[in-house]
Amino acid sequence: MADRFFPNEMPDFVAEAPLEESSSSKRPEISLPKLLSIPSKALFDILKSSAIDLKERVVRETWGLRGKRVQDYTVYTGALGTAYLAFKAYQVTKNADDLKLCSEIVMACDSASRESSRVTFLCGRAGVCALGAVAAKHAGDESLLDYYLKQFKEIKLSSDLPNELLYGRIGFLWASSFLNNHIGNNTISNTRMRTVVDEIIKAGKKLAKKGRCPLMYEWHGKKYWGAAHGLAGIMHVLMDMELKPDEVEDVKGTLRYMIKNRFPSGNYPSSEGSESDRLVHWCHGAPGVALTLVKAAEVFGDEGFLQAAKDAGAVVWRRGLLKRVGICHGISGNTYVFLALYRLTGNEEYLYRAKAFACFLHDRALNFISEGRMHGGDRPYSLFEGVGGMAYLFLDMIEPSKARFPAYEL
Ligand SMILES: [Zn+2]
Repeated sequence: MADRFFPNEMPDFVAEAPLEESSSSKRPEISLPKLLSIPSKALFDILKSSAIDLKERVVRETWGLRGKRVQDYTVYTGALGTAYLAFKAYQVTKNADDLKLCSEIVMACDSASRESSRVTFLCGRAGVCALGAVAAKHAGDESLLDYYLKQFKEIKLSSDLPNELLYGRIGFLWASSFLNNHIGNNTISNTRMRTVVDEIIKAGKKLAKKGRCPLMYEWHGKKYWGAAHGLAGIMHVLMDMELKPDEVEDVKGTLRYMIKNRFPSGNYPSSEGSESDRLVHWCHGAPGVALTLVKAAEVFGDEGFLQAAKDAGAVVWRRGLLKRVGICHGISGNTYVFLALYRLTGNEEYLYRAKAFACFLHDRALNFISEGRMHGGDRPYSLFEGVGGMAYLFLDMIEPSKARFPAYEL
């Protein structure tokens, strides 16, 4: 088990201390123990400049050096992830070049995905159309906005679609919420979204039958619990929907079933009945569940969900310094658990923990990857598996209370 993550030897909490004059001129070389105590403002400046360098590198590797041609168009591992990162950089720096770059990449992804039958934000056509529409809105291009919205509305959901986030119905609903959030309420109508919610609830009840958990889902024959393919991701997005009272109870009941059946360590199984307490990822394990529990505590104001979210956060602190950098199953994604807990509780300890994970990445990740002590990933510059995610996290660290797990937290 220990080889999946670095033992977390960082102190549980370090108070901020003024930066010594001598070190301030050489900020990039500040060591990890010192980084943990420097004032937030100074740290965020360091992370911002690191984020911008990383973003440039990601753009060069995934776009420029590939002749601006798109093979993998997805947010998850492909060109659209770079566009999403460019959009984030635009939101933070207001540099219009980043918005232009985002639109240019989305346009290439639009051509590359026209025949695709995938429907989600993270791995499908909905991501292209939704991000395209939002970028067009920011650029003030009404006709392009209309074009992407029309394309989005033409997406067809087949009857045999799974329900999970990466390829299934809930991933389409997330894209719809993203549009309603950024463009305006009812951009995608409640009626359209309700049809999909009905199918998801129906499928969940059917598989749960009279089991102990009110809703259950399957992906490739397995009843997953995590955010990417299972219950945590589905419940997370359902909480953004207008649910009927009995559906709300089903969501709460499903989350309580998961809490009751977690491992003694506090971690969560990757699938129903699994006894392997191994993965502490957003995709499988405590981090993804923690984000859903934070949301449940926000939405339902329930003390039990709040406590369970804190417990899952403690697992991430102990076992979450993974030997990968990315968002899906890497340190960057795990850092968002502390940012979400900080947003929920206002407790500075969680902000410190987010800073500590980000400092660890800043101080060590690139060296560790080149030394082979961390995996660079199959798609080393992608948003969800590579350093694209690290750049995104560093940009989010600048305003921690506004940070949101990319393509997942609204
Ligand atoms: Zn993963």
